[in-house]
Amino acid sequence: MKNIGIDVKPPTKSCDDRFCPFHGSLGIRGKLLKGKAVSIKAKDMAIIEREYLQYIKKYMMYEKRRSRIPAHLPPCLGVNEGDSVMIAECRPLSKTVSFVVIEKLGE
Ligand SMILES: [Zn+2]
Repeated sequence: MKNIGIDVKPPTKSCDDRFCPFHGSLGIRGKLLKGKAVSIKAKDMAIIEREYLQYIKKYMMYEKRRSRIPAHLPPCLGVNEGDSVMIAECRPLSKTVSFVVIEKLGE
């Protein structure tokens, strides 16, 4: 198994996905984000939802915002819908996907 350069718990299973950062040739660089896998419908892909607070100066208050990021999901991680995950930026894998799930943080 490859060292991806980030301190994460490596998956216990193996896979032959060429877009898996641990077992394939995909390199990761750029942003690291945490989120929740809200929808796993397409094969090897997950929609990651992230909630964050944005400060609104006029009202001196924070508003809650959310964003959805499509990410590639290697089968060796065993992520199910509703799990919180760590995603990392990678090269664009398709029109919308340029992130890959690298760790399952919890159910
Ligand atoms: Zn893998």
